[in-house]
Amino acid sequence: MPSDPDAIRQALAVARGAGDDIPIGAVVYAPDGAVLASARNAREELGDPTAHAETLALRQAASVFGDGWRLDGCTLAVTVEPCTMCAGALVLARVARVVFGAWEPKTGAVGSLWDVVRDRRLNHRPEVVGGVLADECAALVEDFFAERRRHPEG
Ligand SMILES: [Zn+2]
Repeated sequence: MPSDPDAIRQALAVARGAGDDIPIGAVVYAPDGAVLASARNAREELGDPTAHAETLALRQAASVFGDGWRLDGCTLAVTVEPCTMCAGALVLARVARVVFGAWEPKTGAVGSLWDVVRDRRLNHRPEVVGGVLADECAALVEDFFAERRRHPEG
């Protein structure tokens, strides 16, 4: 497995190509550290409210890993704390570890506003490491919004 900062660096590289979408990137690693899938937020590009980086990456990863939908032993790295939908999807996919960059106090569901993945009522609870290269991950999103304010039409 790459180190947590290296995993987030890889997710950052994916996020940077996001175009009109908020730059958030996710990478799914197999238990041996191989990259199974990577995706960036594509809500605008696909016109799909569920096309978050994590959901897209989990779908891709499940199609190439194992013999079904389970991502046993896998790690998901994402540049921003997952929302409720993505946190739910992570639990459903049986991901073993979640590593994320920036905290998202307004919508975060992995420790900020909610803690969906570590609810004690669930029988599968992934390990979580948050705040990895948080400043770098937050800056990418902040720059995107600053740029959009400067060019509201573009
Ligand atoms: Zn999400």
